[in-house]
Amino acid sequence: MDDLFRVSGFGLGVVGLWLCYWFLLADRAKGRKRCPKCWYDMSFADSLRCPECGHDAKRAADLLKTRRRFKGLWLCLLVFLTAGFLWIQPKVQQNGWVSVMPKTALILCLRLEDNQAFFAELDRRTQINVSGEFNTYFPGMLVTDPESLYQWQWGLVGNACVELKKGDTDVLDRQLLLLWLHRASTHVIGEDAERFFRANLSFLEDADPGIRRAAAIFCADARSPEIALESIRPLLDDPIQQVRVGAVSGLRLLGRYSPAPVPVLVEALKHDDGEVRVHATAALGSIAEHGQEPTEVFETLVDVYRSDSEVRVQAQALGAICKFESQRERAYEFMREAFSSTESALREEAISSLTSMDQFDEAFDLEFALQGLNDESPDVRFYAAWLLNERISTDSLRPHQELLREFAKSDDEDVRGAVRKHLGRMQDAIED
Ligand SMILES: [Zn+2]
Repeated sequence: MDDLFRVSGFGLGVVGLWLCYWFLLADRAKGRKRCPKCWYDMSFADSLRCPECGHDAKRAADLLKTRRRFKGLWLCLLVFLTAGFLWIQPKVQQNGWVSVMPKTALILCLRLEDNQAFFAELDRRTQINVSGEFNTYFPGMLVTDPESLYQWQWGLVGNACVELKKGDTDVLDRQLLLLWLHRASTHVIGEDAERFFRANLSFLEDADPGIRRAAAIFCADARSPEIALESIRPLLDDPIQQVRVGAVSGLRLLGRYSPAPVPVLVEALKHDDGEVRVHATAALGSIAEHGQEPTEVFETLVDVYRSDSEVRVQAQALGAICKFESQRERAYEFMREAFSSTESALREEAISSLTSMDQFDEAFDLEFALQGLNDESPDVRFYAAWLLNERISTDSLRPHQELLREFAKSDDEDVRGAVRKHLGRMQDAIED
């Protein structure tokens, strides 16, 4: 059936081309003299005046013009439209009319009452799979293809959303508008970007907590860090925990490009909600990882590590402390201290932070690995086995051969694997 549509569409297209030729080029003079107005045969006329209609051709060459029937072009147009209609039918029947609409037409249709299908189609055409290394971590994750729309088209999208936002919108509509205003504002510059960003700020006060949470992240626009900061900040005290955490995520994003949110995040370390403190601590660690390492922030994190009432916040603070390149020596002290704690969360954080740092000293790794292989926490044992596999040489394990033989009988598969690998190498060395 698809082929039938394609063949007839193609056939009709050929007919259309042939008709164009017929109307515009086929009736050439070929040496015959004709009146250029009524096309009366003037082969035997001795003047330039037509004996039939009285038209006076100005030059002899005018009698040799090709007869072009421009009115016939309407027929050609009709034939081409029909041919096109038939050609796209298979796609229309499979994916609907929206799938064959040009992007600009789709964008103009966003302003219509029933616009869900147009938003969905636009989504399909602008979102692509993330590529490269990222894809292995987030398979199936989509990002906006910056090439998919021109800047002026993004401008049209944003303007349509600003307009739609003025009407009565339900939760689903508002989610869509928030998302598309954000996409539009990141793909345009100047006054438009600012207008779309400001339009989104009002979603921070939305009645729906899901929208407030998403808005806190979408409004973290580094081009207006002060406005973004002051607008997101009140959500740290939102009645819904998810929204408070969203606000911290927004500030964390903002902190990658601007130092503005750092004091607010430091303030959040004293928040009543432990969940907010955990996320604020992680955010400060992440900001340090991106190059901002103020000493007072480090000292505040040390305080949190020492004195927070919840162990998970202390553990997160230790993780953040380890992200400060400039404070490595002190971080190692804290790690060693935490690794001998009775709290498994602290031991887990200490050894996992160690594995995520570049090697400092093999003796230090060795100390953690040997102690960790016997830990009651499976996570600690996992990281200890990782250290053994990746960073510790068989030679430096030789003095601990007795201990390793004990661990070779461990119930933990990771531990057994790592230990046996080294013991095997020692055995090989003896046989050689
Ligand atoms: Zn004539």
